[in-house]
Parts: sequence; structure tokens; C-alpha cells
Amino acid sequence: MDSLFDQPYLEKIEDRIFKETVGLRSNGRPIAGLYCAFTPKELVAAAGAIPVALCAGTQAQIPAAEVHLPANLCPLIKSSYGNAVSDTCPYFHMTDFLLADATCDGKKKMFELLSLIRPLRILQLPQTAETPQSIMNWKEELERVRLYLGAMTQTTITDDMLREQIALYNRMRQTVCRVYELNQGKIPALFGREIDIITSSGGFECNLPERMADMEKAMVLAKKRASEPEFKKTMDGRPRILLTGCPTTHKKVLRLIEDSGGVVVCMETCGGLKTAGARVDESKDPMTALAERYLKTPCACMTPNSSRITLLDDLIRQFQVDGVVELTWEACHTYNIESYHIEKAVTQDFNRPYLHVQTDYSDHDTGQLGTRIEAFLEILS
Ligand code: SF4
Ligand code: SF4
Repeated sequence: MDSLFDQPYLEKIEDRIFKETVGLRSNGRPIAGLYCAFTPKELVAAAGAIPVALCAGTQAQIPAAEVHLPANLCPLIKSSYGNAVSDTCPYFHMTDFLLADATCDGKKKMFELLSLIRPLRILQLPQTAETPQSIMNWKEELERVRLYLGAMTQTTITDDMLREQIALYNRMRQTVCRVYELNQGKIPALFGREIDIITSSGGFECNLPERMADMEKAMVLAKKRASEPEFKKTMDGRPRILLTGCPTTHKKVLRLIEDSGGVVVCMETCGGLKTAGARVDESKDPMTALAERYLKTPCACMTPNSSRITLLDDLIRQFQVDGVVELTWEACHTYNIESYHIEKAVTQDFNRPYLHVQTDYSDHDTGQLGTRIEAFLEILS
């Protein structure tokens, strides 16, 4: 069955947004490159800058990165740096400055090298989200980032500007969650790879209302297709997989699961429900609300990171998940070590089969991974 939401569908959206951004930039709108889900995009947008996520997912520029970085480093870090140092990524090329959170060791040290290429502000992220002191420290850091952004854009960021962006981004998150919800029923309405495309930012975040309208149209088409007998037959009986772990910047594992007969009903990853699920509290002082919401991101860089287990529990039930696949990138110590807790919780507390896949962006292990994933899906059938 042909996919409604494939690469050409996304490329049209990316092309439209890219052209719009070129126009806005030539009229003076600066562009801020972001590397992590802890950075409040609301602050960036309130300053009048256009946020763009720069975590990269291609193998092509990794050799360029390895001239400066060790080979045994997470591919996401190498790919992101390779894009910048080789100046081959049109998104990085358009940036005026970068905001980068102090998360894992590899990223932090890579950012030092990146700061030689672009103005870069490190966001000093606490190591835990579980103490009042850490929320206070994070709020203070975000106040300093607010001043930095104000200076970079010649803007005074008022609370009202922040409230406006908080409401907009909350609507965006709600829309992404509604796309996912189409997969909660007995027959999922979308393949995981389609959700990934429909909910992609599409590059620069310069016009969220239009991007939400794209998603609304996609939902109408998906619902119509889901009512067709041929589609129901295609989906019926496929094992329902929850994909968790590192950001799915490279898509090979997502594709392998679905090419092998499964359907990824939801993703507990950055860009997926790890980040889209939680709203910023609109009733609170905006900086407090931003600090609380963003520090809660259930990322393995936080220690402890118990809220990730709670989120997985909720998602397994909401999406009637049959099995959990955890994707970790090679040399990602935080997620690789945390997989111990995740496997234990999934298999013992939530009583679901679990598969841990550790890989990189190359194709060297695609055959072997396919065999392991097929065997896992067979257990679930
Ligand atoms: S997984 Fe953690 S470090 Fe990586 S992008 Fe997400 S929040 Fe940032
Ligand atoms: S995947 Fe892991 S090692 Fe790579 S940037 Fe994210 S947290 Fe760091």
C-alpha cells in the first residue's frame, strides 16, 4: 500500500517553510540553531528569532566530524558537528547563533568546538529535575538566556510576549498529541514512520499556525484511510510497538520494525511523546512555568530519571502496546546504561517483551538488526 505521508510529502512542506524563512531572514529575523529538547523554544520565538533543531541524522558528514572528534562517539553528535564543520547543512548555514544545553559529555565538549564556528550560548542544565533547588537554578539560568536572546535580537522580551508563545507552542504540542491519538484504537490509523513525518517540525519554526493546519489536513486524510477495508486489513494483527530511547534522528530502526511486519504506534523519544506530551502551565508566571516544564523532560541525562518509567507505563496502556523496542545510539552512555532500568520496568512491572537495539547511522548491521527485529515480532504475533 502506498504511503500517504512519505518523504516527498515532507519535502514539499520543508521547501515551503525554507522559502518563507529566507524571506523573513532577509527582512531581519535572526535564526537560532537548537540542539536539545531542554531549550524553551518559546523564549527564542518571543525574542523574534526563528528556532531550528539541528540534531542531525545522516551518515554522510560523519567522516568530516571524525577529523576533530573521536570515532567512538555517538553518531548524533558526530553527524551534527559534521554538518556544521563541512558547511553542508542549509539549516546550519542559515543560523545566526546557537543555543546548546549542557546535557551529555559528548555534546557538551562538541559544543566547545562548535563555538569556534558560530556564536554559541551554553545553557547550564541541572543534573536532576527532582529538587526544588534545581528548578530554581534552571529558572535563573533561563532568565540569563532571556537577556542573552534580548541582546542578540535587540528585543526586550516581555512576559506578555512569552505568554503568547507559550499558548502557541502548547497548541502545537496538543496537535502533535492528537496525531498520535489516532493510533490508540484497535486498528492504528498511522504507521510510526508516517507519524514521524506528519509531526516533523519541517525545519524552521517560523509559522506554527500553518504547520498545525498541515497536521489537521493530514489527520482528515488519515481518518478517511483508516475507515477503508483494505487499510484495516493491512494493519490488522500487526504487533503494536512502542519505540523508546535516543532521538530517532536516523530512521533505520523505525523502518526495519515496520518493514518486518510491526507498527510503531507511539514513540517515547525527543520529537515524539517525550517532548510533545507535557504542556507549559499557562496559569503561572511564564518563566517559572517554562523552567518547570522543560526541566521535566524525561531524558537519560537526568539522574535519577524516574519520570521516564512513569511515562512509559502510561503510553503502554494508552496505545495498547504489545512490545517495547529501545533504540540507543552507540557510545550513548546515558541511554545505554539507563536501558537496564527500562528493561526491568518493561518486562517485570509492565509485563511486556522488550528488545534493546544498539546501533549507529551506518548500514553495516542492517541485515543482522532486521533478523533480530523479525524474531522479536514473531514472539508478539
Ligand atoms: S535525548 Fe536528552 S540530550 Fe538528547 S535531545 Fe533529547 S533531551 Fe536532549
Ligand atoms: S543520543 Fe546520547 S550521546 Fe547522543 S547526544 Fe543524545 S544523550 Fe548524548
